[in-house]
Amino acid sequence: MSFSYKNQSLHAESVDIADLMQSYGSPLYVYSRTDIENNWREFDSAFGQHPHLVCYAVKANSNIAVLNVLAKIGAGFDIVSVGELERVLAAGGQASNCVFSGVAKTQDEIKRGLEVGIRCFNVESAAELERIEQVSASMNMQAPISIRVNPNVDAKTHPYISTGLKENKFGVDIDDAIALYETAHQSEHINVQGLDCHIGSQLTDVSPFIDALDKVLALIAKLADRGIEIAHLDLGGGVGIRYEDEVTIDISAYISSILDKVGNLEIILEPGRAIVGNAGAFITKVEFLKQNSDKSFAIIDGAMNDLLRPAFYNAYHNVLPVRENAQGVEASWDLVGPICETGDFLAKDRQLSLSAGDYLAVMSAGAYGFTMSSNYNSRPRVAEVMVSDTAHHLIRKRETIQDLFNTEILIND
Ligand SMILES: *Cc1c(COP(=O)(O)O)cnc(C)c1O
Repeated sequence: MSFSYKNQSLHAESVDIADLMQSYGSPLYVYSRTDIENNWREFDSAFGQHPHLVCYAVKANSNIAVLNVLAKIGAGFDIVSVGELERVLAAGGQASNCVFSGVAKTQDEIKRGLEVGIRCFNVESAAELERIEQVSASMNMQAPISIRVNPNVDAKTHPYISTGLKENKFGVDIDDAIALYETAHQSEHINVQGLDCHIGSQLTDVSPFIDALDKVLALIAKLADRGIEIAHLDLGGGVGIRYEDEVTIDISAYISSILDKVGNLEIILEPGRAIVGNAGAFITKVEFLKQNSDKSFAIIDGAMNDLLRPAFYNAYHNVLPVRENAQGVEASWDLVGPICETGDFLAKDRQLSLSAGDYLAVMSAGAYGFTMSSNYNSRPRVAEVMVSDTAHHLIRKRETIQDLFNTEILIND
């Protein structure tokens, strides 16, 4: 972990975050390149010589500098839109290492995926298979596909990030998958490559993954009996990280329990959060302190539009002062932003010693942080910086006020 105190000041690798705030302004996302690389390598190296591809889930953090760092060390990518595909290509990633997920790929997205030669489409319904087949036929090609099956296991995570139950919109019911594979197998314009599942996000227990694995392996055996060969098994993402005090999954133990069951079958994984979540922090400044008889509010310059997870999922992020042992008003603070919503908070009831002007680091913000940010309340989106040892690089400029309404058009009358 590359965020730690040195000389009583929080550093990202060897860079003092207080210095970054002087250079780049507030609020700011800060990422550690070393953490991102080490997190991906932990997955990759656990496979040893077994055929595999660790496809980083781009939606967790899609900055092209992040994608570029991962492409350079050999990552594949899990994409969910043509926008993400173009980002990967702009970042120097290979289309042939991309798997294309998502419940509603458009004709244009499918066409572009085929043009650039992506590795595989993860098909989520019979209707989508039909659409892929039509596009592929019109281009006189064979579209490589996996079917995303829904193994009906409970990932025991937050309901908004659980995707593997029958009631979810994702994937094809495991009982309907054989018929759909038969349709795909018979098509001249479809090339059946794999089988895919993704049961949810922020899992802290390995057992739902293993239950899903057992179910999809049984399905692969049934498909083999029907002469349908599956060349790779994609087990999705979902490995959780420590935000607070969660006991998380041991990645190498998880991967060895996969390898114990799969023979020589090539394995694809799609981790997102586990690669970037703890490799990033969101840094914000205390604007005002506001205390009444019941509550102590620290009003900060960061808000739910910058980091949505607390408002959206009631998610917990640890908060650290950039200056350790800062002198200030000691209380149990709610950290609230300037947005006109009661749900606009980044943290609640945190025992901290605060003064106006202090910087606070909202930790574990590298995944689903910037990518879920918006311009709500006409707030420009913040800058992003990547640190590598003693170096720091601006990887996204802060938006300007002009950027906010550049694409808007007055009507003339
Ligand atoms: C979101 C998503 C992922 C990544 O999930 P994490 O929990 O960030 O690892 C992987 N695959 C699919 C299909 C997804 O929708």
